[in-house]
Amino acid sequence: MSFETLGLDPALLRAAADRGYAAPTAIQREAIPPILQGRDLLGAARTGSGKTAAFALPLLQRLVQQPQAPRVLRALVLVPTRELAAQVGEAMRGLAQHLPVRPKIAVAFGGVSINPQMMALRGGADVMVATPGRLLDLVDRRALRLSAVSMLVLDEADRLFDLGFADELGRILALLPARRQNLLFSATFPQAIQSLAEAQLHDPVRVES
Ligand code: AMP
Repeated sequence: MSFETLGLDPALLRAAADRGYAAPTAIQREAIPPILQGRDLLGAARTGSGKTAAFALPLLQRLVQQPQAPRVLRALVLVPTRELAAQVGEAMRGLAQHLPVRPKIAVAFGGVSINPQMMALRGGADVMVATPGRLLDLVDRRALRLSAVSMLVLDEADRLFDLGFADELGRILALLPARRQNLLFSATFPQAIQSLAEAQLHDPVRVES
């Protein structure tokens, strides 16, 4: 199976080809079509499966297909660590590079000064990739509003809990609009993740890699 059959925009296919992606991985084949349709998704996926592109490609396509005021935050990707935030942000920017109207992708994580991250958010952003604590700091400082977020990705959700982000996650979920698309990826499914999935996902497509 090729990327061409998945329903992706030519600009995104070009970016995937640039990166040397010859064929979609299993999780990309299964996840991309339902995400493009707007379905919620529960993914059992490990790093190395190609899960970043599995959510990033259709997320970017949905953003550009639903034109709205630019630089209003519409997609939020929550990740457990600063390394993953940097890595996912970089991957998304690469995949977005040929889009005619390129969304602004911001990255924020704790452990470094918040000021440059606040400066980078001046004028807004379309996509935010962040760790939960720093995201809340930015919201508390009014550098960012979550009221227009229509797509949420929880990446490595089990590690979000392992690293103690349950309370932050709860606060963030309460700030998001109820009507939104949710994509949850996790390597393992302990009770906390199952409860989260039941509470937040609506009739999710289940994919495994
Ligand atoms: P991830 O699981 O998202 O961390 O991706 C693991 C690695 O696989 C990254 O280096 C990606 O750039 C790469 N990758 C993602 N999708 C594909 C694909 N379809 N073909 C080849 N490599 C890929």
